[in-house]
Amino acid sequence: MLNFDFHNPTHIVFGKGRVADLATLVPAAAKVLILVGGASAEKTGTLAEVRAALGERQHATFSGIEPNPSYETSMKAVAQIRAGGFDFLLAVGGGSVIDAVKFIAAAVHFEGEDAWAILEKRGRNITQAVPFGAVLTLPATGSEMNNGGVITHRGKGAKLAFSSVHTYPVFSVLDPTKTYTLPPQQLANGVVDAFVHTVEQYLTYPVNAPVQDRFAEGILQTLIEIGPRLLTAPEPVYDDRANLMWAATMALNGLIGAGVPQDWATHMIGHELTALHNIDHARTLAIVLPALLNERRVPKRAKLLQFGERVWGITTGTDDERITAAIERTRAFFESMGIATRLSGYGLGADTIDTVVAQLEAHGMVQLGEQREVTPAVSRRILEAAL
Ligand code: NAP
Ligand code: FE
Repeated sequence: MLNFDFHNPTHIVFGKGRVADLATLVPAAAKVLILVGGASAEKTGTLAEVRAALGERQHATFSGIEPNPSYETSMKAVAQIRAGGFDFLLAVGGGSVIDAVKFIAAAVHFEGEDAWAILEKRGRNITQAVPFGAVLTLPATGSEMNNGGVITHRGKGAKLAFSSVHTYPVFSVLDPTKTYTLPPQQLANGVVDAFVHTVEQYLTYPVNAPVQDRFAEGILQTLIEIGPRLLTAPEPVYDDRANLMWAATMALNGLIGAGVPQDWATHMIGHELTALHNIDHARTLAIVLPALLNERRVPKRAKLLQFGERVWGITTGTDDERITAAIERTRAFFESMGIATRLSGYGLGADTIDTVVAQLEAHGMVQLGEQREVTPAVSRRILEAAL
């Protein structure tokens, strides 16, 4: 196992009806800005529940954070916070709202001329942030229990990630019943995003960390078991939603990534596809991952065989046949969730590849993956194989 630090300060408040706990979780004297996405928080009644739980505290609402949240919208929230003197932020939504609130919380205190510099430095220049909590309404990203965020600069066509010790939520409320209003395609996105987060920290090369491998395999098997049921159940099943929510959180809260190599090339290539073509985050991952695993099948050989055997039950055939079968089972799982796994499934052809590779180069994404071997030439081969 590799050396690691593990410190996750986010207080998780899990279960049905727990939004009411905001009454004690939010500091009593706080002046609170609630931040939401489009219409869902209002329509589902969650926003009303949040306001009720805040009781006598002064509060206002900022709405309009879009999926794949933008720098431009985030800066409007920064202006409102500075002008209104808000000292506690509450994100109510999915990964987009929580990511945006992390950036906003840091940008309020940013002293440079333009807070986009936070993304250019990947968060290394964050020195403090306004404290914030979250009410999660979409299990997928793990943003509710990590310190990372991804922000899109619409003007520059760039989607970049940042992280900082200052941008962990103070608490996150995880009420599985909040997922009952999600459309099937968002449930599917959540399953695939959590699956790929797990794979990016598991399918690398062995470092003799069997406990980490078993955590990861447990999350993957849970997602494979629950995923199809989420789409076919006539009514939402509480325990399936609860297990999905916790699996997605555990997939990216630092636990399974401790002491092991991490890949993240699929995410970095996927971010460029979203920035250029506005494809949902999870769908970009479903396009890239199968092609990447095949391209990297030699350096990932031992773990691909382990993944095939332990996660998919593949025990027969030559090593190469078993690896191919494991990759194809993964692709078939994504497809069974209604998620296309090729660029052509999104109306894209070979002509987009030059642009994606150029953007990866422009953003310094030239040595990706656990071995730093995914150069622009390798990314190009991955995208060509994903046509
Ligand atoms: P999202 O973009 O937050 O939300 C997608 C859609 O779901 C929105 O249109 C939203 O509508 C709707 N929605 C949310 N909760 C709902 C509910 N309970 N009922 C009905 N509709 C609901 O989706 P996400 O997948 O969670 O987040 C994606 C973003 O996270 C991407 O930008 C991605 O790059 C980033 N990400 C972050 C991390 C991380 O570690 N921080 C990891 C992976 C990905 P409204 O707008 O109307 O609310
Ligand atoms: Fe993700």
